[in-house]
Amino acid sequence: MEIKKVGVVGCGLMGGGIAQTCAQSGYQVTVSEINDDLLSKGLAAIRKRLAKSVEKGKLAKEEEESIAGRLKGTTNTGDFADCDIVVEAAVENLELKKKIFADIDGICRPGIVLATNTSCLSITEIAVATKRPDKVIGTHFFNPVPVMKLLEVVTTIVSSQVTLDTVKAFGESLGKNVIVAKDTPAFIVNRILTPMMLEAIRLYEAGVATREDIDTGITLGLNHPMGPLTLADFVGLDTMYFITEAMYEETKDPKFAAPLLLRRMVKAGHLGRKTGKGFYDYQ
Ligand code: NAD
Repeated sequence: MEIKKVGVVGCGLMGGGIAQTCAQSGYQVTVSEINDDLLSKGLAAIRKRLAKSVEKGKLAKEEEESIAGRLKGTTNTGDFADCDIVVEAAVENLELKKKIFADIDGICRPGIVLATNTSCLSITEIAVATKRPDKVIGTHFFNPVPVMKLLEVVTTIVSSQVTLDTVKAFGESLGKNVIVAKDTPAFIVNRILTPMMLEAIRLYEAGVATREDIDTGITLGLNHPMGPLTLADFVGLDTMYFITEAMYEETKDPKFAAPLLLRRMVKAGHLGRKTGKGFYDYQ
């Protein structure tokens, strides 16, 4: 089936980026939020990024307008009825995602693929919340979505080859390099990255080194573009916490247990860039 219209659930950091990337690739996009306030905030963030690209000469003014014209925001999931694929990017919570999938399963045409951007939750559990588990798959985009070239597609023991082929072609049409993993906690990239980020937090928590020296160690020593504490602030400490909790829950492996400092920072609302304070100050 030809994909013309994409639905995106959630217009936060990732959903906004996915919606923008789809619109930039020529798709009609409907992106949903839980209320008008969050929707306006999410759409404004997309428009700000597009305006910045125009300012930098990376995007023509007319292009900016046609991209914005392809983007429609909604607070009514009923608007997904005519979508040809839906990508869910709501917060990292299994019960919430199962509820969203059961809901959109009843709204969307039976033949279309429903994808989740989950970082580490079980795609199989989400799939069986619908009546089309063979058409549910993971599409794990990377932040910032319009810039990052990778798309990790995650298959399950109940997803079909047609679903995989459809989503691979969709990902490539967005200009992404597609890699494929089986439904395992955190798939490929986060499975390798998360223990390193948690170890950085533990070193900082234990007072072994300053946040700057930990980050510099990794940027200059391993040639990573960004240190792990800066990256944690960028990802969002709440999202990081949800990811580690889910990985620990599934594996019971202590290397995935959230350090106390991470728990306390999340409780205090120090969530990184999105709240202006995390390991670093962004006020
Ligand atoms: P976020 O908090 O920035 O955005 C989530 C948005 O979903 C919020 O704006 C929230 O209001 C909205 N939402 C919640 N319930 C909803 C519903 N029922 N309908 C519509 N919108 C709803 O979080 P994020 O960082 O964008 O993460 C979203 C998903 O992407 C998570 O599953 C996360 O694990 C995954 N992910 C995040 C990153 C990252 O770097 N932050 C990278 C890859 C994947």
